[in-house]
Amino acid sequence: MKNALKLIFLLAFILFFSLSSSITAQQQEPPPVKAAQVKGNIYEVTGGRGANAGFFIGEKEVLVIDAKMTEESAKQMISEIKKLTSSPIKYVILTHSDGDHVNGLVGFPQDVIIVSHHQTAKDMDDAFKDPNLRSYLPNLTFSKKLKLYSGDKTIKLFHFGPAHTSGDVVVYFPDEKVAFIGDLLFLGRDPLIHRHKNGNSFGLVNTLKSILKLDADIFIHGHGDIASPSDLEGVIKSLEEKQEKIKSLIEEGKSLEEIKKVFNVEDRPPSPDRPRRPGLVETIYLELTEKK
Ligand SMILES: [Zn+2]
Repeated sequence: MKNALKLIFLLAFILFFSLSSSITAQQQEPPPVKAAQVKGNIYEVTGGRGANAGFFIGEKEVLVIDAKMTEESAKQMISEIKKLTSSPIKYVILTHSDGDHVNGLVGFPQDVIIVSHHQTAKDMDDAFKDPNLRSYLPNLTFSKKLKLYSGDKTIKLFHFGPAHTSGDVVVYFPDEKVAFIGDLLFLGRDPLIHRHKNGNSFGLVNTLKSILKLDADIFIHGHGDIASPSDLEGVIKSLEEKQEKIKSLIEEGKSLEEIKKVFNVEDRPPSPDRPRRPGLVETIYLELTEKK
């Protein structure tokens, strides 16, 4: 009897572990890379590893926006493009330097023109150690504005100052009123400001206001569903309210710890495998108290 009981426990144990390992395997497998038409010849790419990306099919060439995070996902994106056109990919425009937007570059042909803000090129130059990755550093950079032409289409690239990073690029298609805005927008969670890349929350407000002046009504971004102007307005409003509140708390003489308590912010426990990055409240506090 005792042995039978032991056997049942053993079987239950094996069943539990095989189930839990298959659940983990499912969680690790990303959804397939998919391209969906947004408007005209503009497509959004979701799934795979890394942030949402996109592409535009021009008369003679394809222009890609962001490169996914792995060679495999980039190649899957390229095969989605090949289903729609036989034209070659001429440009890959990078919205910023984060790995989930740029590390898939290794899956692209070597002859693509890689376009970015000059600061993004510098961040990638610092981050890319692998020689293969290093052969994909941006080779067309700009500071404020750049126009690209594809047939009779003009594609406008803008940098409106430091925001999510210090090298964010907005890719604007005036005819379609569509803009790719990378990680300048997060919906349903706090804006993400990379202080280690000189991002800035006040700069983000300025950038979002500049984007709203572009006469676009469809915004494609890195980590969520397509957004509308009212989504951007909502983020601007809540970010400005937070900045105002933190400013007045600082004026009342409150410490960072006290201000974090007001916003119910708790730091994640420190971990040796990832650097400590300040959250939004701390970022705004630091921006308001340092310098000058
Ligand atoms: Zn990012």
